[in-house]
Amino acid sequence: MSETDARLRAEALESLLIEKGLLSVSQIDDVITRYNERVGPMNGARVVAKAWCDSRFKARLLDDATSAIEEFAFEGGEVDKLVVVENTADQHNLVVCTLCSCYPWAVLGLPPKWYKDPAYRSRVVREPRAVLAEFGVQLPAATAIRVWDSSAEIRYMVLPEQPKQWQGKDEGELAALVTRDSMIGVELLAGSAE
Ligand code: FE
Repeated sequence: MSETDARLRAEALESLLIEKGLLSVSQIDDVITRYNERVGPMNGARVVAKAWCDSRFKARLLDDATSAIEEFAFEGGEVDKLVVVENTADQHNLVVCTLCSCYPWAVLGLPPKWYKDPAYRSRVVREPRAVLAEFGVQLPAATAIRVWDSSAEIRYMVLPEQPKQWQGKDEGELAALVTRDSMIGVELLAGSAE
């Protein structure tokens, strides 16, 4: 189904549900607002920034991310079990769902279109370095790449490395700088590979 078809179908369905009195316009608006403003990568970015600033939180996050993020009380579900994997100079982590598009909604929002693309899903396992290069990520040969396959039961998020030039920024400033793609593992934050 093309994107236009999907949009037309969604609009037709929406009109029908409203007409039948099963759904109201404000309910639909609430869901859209929730995903636009309250469920999205800004949540994951807050988790990353806190881990950078608070080593005890970071240890808890890497040990058991599901319970470590409870204090944030994120909406959006879809993280029965969250596992956070840390990028280091020795190991770069990359997240995929080879089967479909499992993704940690509560911390990253809705998955980008390419994440659901069969080409990304199959190639990232066979040739992660080549796929990363296409995203503009060049890693030193000595850095191992590990690919984590998400499922309905376990969803992964990457803890990116904090760029050296971001030392001294506070948690709020850092949270504003962390990108969605860095938490999937297809982007290095400014200068972090240097
Ligand atoms: Fe999936």
